[in-house]
This record gives sequence, structure tokens and C-alpha cells, in this order.
Amino acid sequence: MARPWNFSAGPSALPLEVLEQAAREMTNWHGSGMSVMEMSHRGKHFTQIRDEAVADLRELLSVPENFHILFMQGGATAENAIVPMNLIGRNGAGKADYVLSGSWSNKSYKEAQRYGDIAVAASSGAAAEIDGAQYGPWTWFPAPETWRVRSDAAYLHLCGNETIGGVEFTDWPDMAGLGAPDVPLVVDASSHFLSRPIDFTRVGMVYAGAQKNAGPAGVTVVIVRDDLIGHALPICPSAFDYANVAAAGSMFNTPPTYAIYIAGLVFKWLKRQGGVAAIEAQNIRKAEALYSFLDASNFYITAVHGPVRSRMNVPFFLKDDALNAEFLAQAEARGLMQLKGHKSVGGMRASLYNAVPFEGVQALISFMQEFERQYG
Ligand SMILES: *Cc1c(COP(=O)(O)O)cnc(C)c1O
Repeated sequence: MARPWNFSAGPSALPLEVLEQAAREMTNWHGSGMSVMEMSHRGKHFTQIRDEAVADLRELLSVPENFHILFMQGGATAENAIVPMNLIGRNGAGKADYVLSGSWSNKSYKEAQRYGDIAVAASSGAAAEIDGAQYGPWTWFPAPETWRVRSDAAYLHLCGNETIGGVEFTDWPDMAGLGAPDVPLVVDASSHFLSRPIDFTRVGMVYAGAQKNAGPAGVTVVIVRDDLIGHALPICPSAFDYANVAAAGSMFNTPPTYAIYIAGLVFKWLKRQGGVAAIEAQNIRKAEALYSFLDASNFYITAVHGPVRSRMNVPFFLKDDALNAEFLAQAEARGLMQLKGHKSVGGMRASLYNAVPFEGVQALISFMQEFERQYG
């Protein structure tokens, strides 16, 4: 059977080369006589795997030396609690502000309320008129000039890419310009991590569950500036205290060794592709192809405000949603998998992560053209 095109939102497509390398190394990693799954995390083999993964990631994203790269567990969902437990105590005020732009940022906001005085800095939860056009809730992004950031907030949280709604925001402001120079920006980058560069002069912390764009489920990447750690609340579990995890080189407890190994192979694959700038160019090409096709069609519809359309997750609708089941069945028969939209949004969603090549997007567009000819 030919390998299908996988548009899953997560866990999602991994590069075939990575899977094949892992298969070759499954029972005997580099002559060690062991699978990576069977090794002591403190032995020389796994230490090397961890060190290379950290170094490759630092190189790929040009992570400055004053940022720690941590491998943790619990996914981005656990970070919704781990972030406030680590950061909210840093200046004594016990406050944090959240920008709400869709499902994931709302979950982060809700969880944080257990740990302090949490306020909404801005929200796209209402319909809006932008440049004369109407946009529904969670299909646009509040402009930074409208954010209300408390100058004594311990941090400001936002979700860089709303995986469900398909809203991506990367024009991160200089917090001094918003009257809050001491408030670091914390970004949930789960679903666009490694799809584009990150400006580390604009963020204090970025976190990402690996299973969208960086590897398998089970490992969460945390990149945090060193002055932000060491302030964990007393209730913070020791294993989730960034200071402990950093001091132990992500081995305060047994790390998810196999997931780190596979993520490390993805990092090496990305370097072979030419790095993040090269993959970003491909991601732009893929997203432009699909969005321009959707914009030209009267059969398919998109809802997200143009400037914040996600390159990674493209929700779209058939004008006649009675055709949804037939669309999905025919797509699957053509090897175009996991296109069903999230239940809270409906319709379809094509996730175009790094491991989905341009040919996959072309295959999707030609199927969509054919389907339109058949039913339009
Ligand atoms: C998937 C996702 C999460 C949740 O990740 P888990 O690994 O399931 O905890 C959080 N934020 C964003 C943006 C996501 O895409």
C-alpha cells in the first residue's frame, strides 16, 4: 500500500525518513546491542542522544544561551498548570494576563485561575468587523494595541497557533511598547513549533507538545529564559519545577527517552532540509497554494481573517455540509487521511505540518477540484 497523505492535527505525520531510520535502529542503536527503549537514561548512549537533541534544537531555532531547553512530560495541557506554578510567584503580585484567541488559549486561561489572580488581556470571543468584513468569534486575533496588560503581571500568555480554529499570530509585540516592559511573553507554540523562526528577544518562554510538528506524543519542549526560573510556588511538584528540570538536564526523573530520541531524529531531518528558514519557505508555499485555491472557490469556504490564517492548520467548509461524509469517504479512498474538522468547528481541517510535503497539498487540491466538479 502506498503511504497516504496524512493531514492529522496531532499526533500527526512524521517524516518517512525518520520512521525508517528508527525502524533500522529499533533493536540495536548504533552498535549498542540495545533498543533506545532499553537503555539507562543516565548511560552514555542516551546522554549522547539527549545532548544532540538539545544542541540541534538550539541550532535550529538559534536559541540564545540564556534560555534553557527542557524536555518535560504532561503535554501542553500540563504546562497550563506548570507555567503559572513556576512563573506567577516571580514578582510577588501573583498576577498573570491571558490573550484569548480560541480553544487552547481558553483552556490555558481556565487552568491558570487555580494559581492566582488571572485576567483577560484581550479576547476574540465576539464577532468583529475588520476592514469592512465580518468575522465570527475566534476567527481573528486581537491587535496588540488593544491588549490590557497589567504592568505587575508575572507574565502574559498567548497561543501562537490555535490548532482547532486555525488562527496563527506571530507578530509578537515589544512589551515595553505596551507599557509592560517587565512582563515576559509566554507562548504556547505546540502546533507551529519549528515551522518558522522564533524571535527570542520578544518572548520569555515558549512551550510545545511535540506531537504536532516536532516528534511523537510524550515529550513537551520548554524553552525558558533563565531569570524566569527558580520562583516556583511551594505547591509545584518538584518534577515540574523548571529549576529542578534545568539543573538535572531534563533528567530530574526518567525522561520519555524514546520520544526524545525520535524528536532528535526529526531535528536532524530538519537540518538536512536546510533548517527552519527552508522549511518555513515550504510551509508558506503549501499554505498559499491551499488558501488561494479556497479563496477562488465558491464551493468551499474559509472563515479566518486573512492576516492571521494559520499556515499549519487550515479549517475549511463545504458550502453544502450535507456533502461532508461523502467528501471524507472519497478523500480517504484517495489516500487523503484525517481531514475531518474538530467537532467544535465542524467542516474540514487540513493540517500542513513540516512532514506534509507540497505534493501532499497538491494531491488534496486536485481531489477538491474534482469533488467540486462532481457536486458543484
Ligand atoms: C494539542 C495542543 C495542546 C494540548 O496538547 P496535549 O499534548 O494534548 O496536552 C495545547 N495547545 C495547543 C496549541 C495544541 O495544539
